[in-house]
Amino acid sequence: MKDEMIRGTAFGDQIRFFAAYTKDTVDEARQIHDLSPLCTAALGRLLTAGLMMGAMGKDESDIITLKIDGDGPIKSLTVTADPNGNVKGLAYNNHVDLPLREDGHLDVGRGIGNGMLSVIRDMGIKEPYVGQTLLHSGEIAEDLTYYFAESEQIPTSVALGVLIDRDRTVKHSGGFIIQVMPFASDETLSLIEKRLASFSSVTQEVEQGKSMEDIMNELLDDVKIEDRMAVRYYCNCSIERVTKALISLGKKELQSMIDDGENIKLHCDFCEKDYEFTIDELKNIIKC
Ligand SMILES: [Zn+2]
Repeated sequence: MKDEMIRGTAFGDQIRFFAAYTKDTVDEARQIHDLSPLCTAALGRLLTAGLMMGAMGKDESDIITLKIDGDGPIKSLTVTADPNGNVKGLAYNNHVDLPLREDGHLDVGRGIGNGMLSVIRDMGIKEPYVGQTLLHSGEIAEDLTYYFAESEQIPTSVALGVLIDRDRTVKHSGGFIIQVMPFASDETLSLIEKRLASFSSVTQEVEQGKSMEDIMNELLDDVKIEDRMAVRYYCNCSIERVTKALISLGKKELQSMIDDGENIKLHCDFCEKDYEFTIDELKNIIKC
């Protein structure tokens, strides 16, 4: 199954949904940051949510950032996504390992601990919109469910799952966001609640060979898919962007770097790439 996001409506427009399969995207993050299984699961869940919430953006330039700050050993997670299926992310601590929970699952909740979830929507020209909510369990899907209810007043069901293989690679990853429109009937609501209550988990369903579309059809009636897009881990840093960042430091700062006489190394935390500038290159930049 290829990484893909679908979105659409169900129950005759009473419901809107987003669903994504993100195995390769999350495994790419694992490889870039050398993540432990626990950190892969934690960041993978947030990357998957970021992709779907990014797709809620209206304009091409809308960027969403999800940030989790906790008192657990992972400390923080940051994910940034655009509306076109591109996402990048990072964990503060990449190598955290904790004993498995009693049910055999990775203990993401303990890895994150108590803290805050922030959702920052940057729409380019205007001030970014920032919504915040206290973490409820640190399990991420549940925290986002509370976020939608508290900050955006939209009854929402969020499911996220990352299954790690024996060799520590990502076996499956995916999730969905189901949102209830204000005019939805009580009948529709109770039907969905009933189905969600008996729903196992995204990764378990995918393990049985189901696609995200199959899962949506299982949970919802009258599913209409409006959009399908490929998703990927993508960092938009480039030599041009890094150069711009250097220029923005100002001539005084650049001159003092030149006076120090050593090459400047800049590191991108999202893709772990290094950019190196020689003194001659810095001298050219300062001329701009
Ligand atoms: Zn980068």
